[in-house]
Amino acid sequence: MLNLGHWRVDRLADIDPVRLPAGRGFPQLSQAMLREHADRLGPRFIDPVTLELLISFHTWVLRRDGLTILVDTCIGDHKDRPARPDWHQRDTNWLERLAALGVSPESVDRVMCTHMHADHLGWNTRLEGGQWVPTFPNARYLMAEVEYRHWARRYETEGAGLNHGSFADSVLPVVARGQADMVSMSHRLEGGLCLEPASGHTPGTVLIHVEDAGHHGVLTGDILHHPFQLREPAMPSAYCEDPVEASRVRVALCERFADTATQILTAHFPAPSVGRIVRDRSHFDFVFTGEVRS
Ligand SMILES: [Zn+2]
Repeated sequence: MLNLGHWRVDRLADIDPVRLPAGRGFPQLSQAMLREHADRLGPRFIDPVTLELLISFHTWVLRRDGLTILVDTCIGDHKDRPARPDWHQRDTNWLERLAALGVSPESVDRVMCTHMHADHLGWNTRLEGGQWVPTFPNARYLMAEVEYRHWARRYETEGAGLNHGSFADSVLPVVARGQADMVSMSHRLEGGLCLEPASGHTPGTVLIHVEDAGHHGVLTGDILHHPFQLREPAMPSAYCEDPVEASRVRVALCERFADTATQILTAHFPAPSVGRIVRDRSHFDFVFTGEVRS
């Protein structure tokens, strides 16, 4: 658990850890560079034998004054993801662990995602009587309109398989039930929360700022995937729709928050997944902070 002013922030893992073959996500990462990062970061972050990157999929649970907001709802259960065996037809205790934090599905007020990839919106819906229904019956689901329109356009030509099927089973059912609110990429919410455009990884990727009582946190989504990127912020990732722009955004993020008190709440760094960016000579580094429960 981490406090940002009046906000209580919990991290709820969906899958942690996941092993990522480095070459798949970062083709420019040579074995020699990887070995150097592995030696420096240690086995929590890179497997010392296989040199696979270890990442996490988790939801951020934000609470203050009776308001409960979930950001990035991960993979979800019972979803057909045949191309990703570790995401396919899962049956987990994620909702029980959410309840253990004191959060029932009915008590969630807002659901947001930093972008609409399949690993950021799975728990938006759950299977009930053979139908996908919103997991959080009383929540408004805030969607950056630019992001929604981008995927809706692609859905017209690519159909149900788009994004591993996630647009069809985790976004459209929410819209159909009337629980989606399309918002601008600079939308401001209550309690010092606001979005900021950060296009590149996807066209509608946003940063989510949490600001209160002199404390500042930023939920950075997939602008960063792994701690090694602090050393190589300009290196493009294969997961980005516009890798050049995404790299520019990543470098700018590092420059902006380096050596500040801003807490960076990442979407994929292993637990505790939150920390500060520091400048280390000609590059950056990540100093983990906070005792965030997984
Ligand atoms: Zn992701």
